[in-house]
Amino acid sequence: MRKTIWILGDQLGPHNAALDGARKKDDVLFLVESGRKLRKLKYHQQRLVLLLSAQRHYAEEMRKAGWTVDYHALGPGVTWATALAAHVKKHRTERVLLTAPNNYDEQQAAMKLAGKFPLEILPTRQFLVPREEFLAWAEGKKSLVMETHYRRVRTEFGFLMQPDGHPVGGRWNFDEENRKTFRDWVKAGHPSAEVRREKPDRITREVMTLVAAEFADHPGKAADFWLPVDRAGALRWLDEFIATRLAGFGPWEDLMVEGDELLFHSVISPLINLGLLAPRECIERAIAAYDKKKAPLPSVEGFVRQIAGWREFINGVYWLKMPDYEKVNGLEAERALPDFFYTGETEMNCLHQCIRQVSATGFNHHIQRLMVLGNFLLLTGVRPPEALRWYLEMYVDAHDWVMAANVLGMVLHADGGFMATKPYAAGSGYISRMSNYCAGCRYQPEVKTGPEACPFNYLYWDFYARHEKRFARNPRVGMALKTLAKKSPAERKAIADSAREFLRGLEKSPQRTQKGG
Ligand SMILES: Cc1cc2nc3c(=O)[nH]c(=O)nc-3n(C[C@H](O)[C@H](O)[C@H](O)COP(=O)(O)OP(=O)(O)OC[C@H]3O[C@@H](n4cnc5c(N)ncnc54)[C@H](O)[C@@H]3O)c2cc1C
Ligand code: SF4
Repeated sequence: MRKTIWILGDQLGPHNAALDGARKKDDVLFLVESGRKLRKLKYHQQRLVLLLSAQRHYAEEMRKAGWTVDYHALGPGVTWATALAAHVKKHRTERVLLTAPNNYDEQQAAMKLAGKFPLEILPTRQFLVPREEFLAWAEGKKSLVMETHYRRVRTEFGFLMQPDGHPVGGRWNFDEENRKTFRDWVKAGHPSAEVRREKPDRITREVMTLVAAEFADHPGKAADFWLPVDRAGALRWLDEFIATRLAGFGPWEDLMVEGDELLFHSVISPLINLGLLAPRECIERAIAAYDKKKAPLPSVEGFVRQIAGWREFINGVYWLKMPDYEKVNGLEAERALPDFFYTGETEMNCLHQCIRQVSATGFNHHIQRLMVLGNFLLLTGVRPPEALRWYLEMYVDAHDWVMAANVLGMVLHADGGFMATKPYAAGSGYISRMSNYCAGCRYQPEVKTGPEACPFNYLYWDFYARHEKRFARNPRVGMALKTLAKKSPAERKAIADSAREFLRGLEKSPQRTQKGG
């Protein structure tokens, strides 16, 4: 019996469960470029180039490998439903196999189609931990701790584990060795490593032209696209990271340098999220580098933690909490997203630099997303759906499953602390220690209130003053609340006045409406 293997645009790897047992001479691969999906929001042009070019490369590779490929390109009226109906009719398919979509809305849409077509949905292998296993582990817990989950995953897979069941090096965590400051970086002689840009081939160039024309009013420039788009390119990209940057990953993981934005980061998220890389192979190649003494343990453990720990945890929380997760607003945040998140026009240099970078490349590393941009959104109380939408639109690696818990849980603390026991709130101290942004800023990081003060300083205390009651019973916030309580009435007034003045200025600045892209 002839089968159809339906491959979604973020399932482009050789590890796709729907391909198990498929036969080139009998079966057909089916792929769709869904306009509805690509136009759901005003996505960064480089994200669209990545999605379309990767999918077209996959189809071409499979054709060359001898598969029959039924490819439905972007066009008026092309949706999953219309393309599948045309496909089933043309190929007289009796069975369609699809690996479970990674995003909730797509899973719902696929289930709906399963009522009309002979569609079978298989469990995904794009994560180390199956969805049901995470749900069983999380069942009944009031809050979840990433570290506990991470240790379970490491033990189960034997990643960096000794035969006696203890972690290699005797510790689970090397934070003390990692996360060095900007001053440490200067003292070390500005260590740096080049991240080579990929040269676009014919298919990518065609897609760049298409995106520039069809999505002209979207952020970013398609012409500046810089990432790999196929399996071979993704493996080269990963190996280059392991050979040239993994050793420096740990110590400089949290650093932010104006003019050297990527530092030692892997930038594999856009690729791993499309299935071009499997989480396990990324981890195993990094561990192999440690075994060959090419990278130190703190760097390798730090990298393994990101994938086996954070990535798995974020995905698990998403499937545990959807569909209600996208509606959370635990801190009752009601401010509109300032328009400068799209233009970069702000005098706060740290924000300006991160927004400039993401507009140009579709990428910021984790600390820029969390401790600069996220910190601002949290402290000023921007409405969760608007913050979420911005992140989804601007990043090349953005997908619903990965953004929800990162933005709503980690950044905005909007889920009542379910996945982060305390808000990631910080004054200027963190940014000035970890970056050189403050040197080029019109504000003074050491000034606490008034027009010259860094806004993060008074916004931080204003945030805790606004939420004093809410966090009163949270022991992890105890120190901040005690310090706040010790402030004199005059200090508290100065904080409140500065914050009010700043927030009033934000309200006067242009703001984006919530209309679709
Ligand atoms: C507000 C916010 C939004 C984010 N949005 C995304 C997103 O849309 N897509 C995305 O893949 N990651 C997202 N992240 C997580 C993380 O910032 C990126 O995965 C990372 O910066 C990608 O760069 P890298 O590949 O160089 O990562 P590295 O620092 O080299 O880490 C290696 C890999 O670990 C995984 N990883 C690490 N942290 C996380 C995390 N918190 N959640 C999921 N995976 C993680 C990624 O696959 C990443 O490629 C977000 C984090 C925050 C705080
Ligand atoms: S002074 Fe404040 S606003 Fe300016 S770069 Fe430093 S942290 Fe950012």
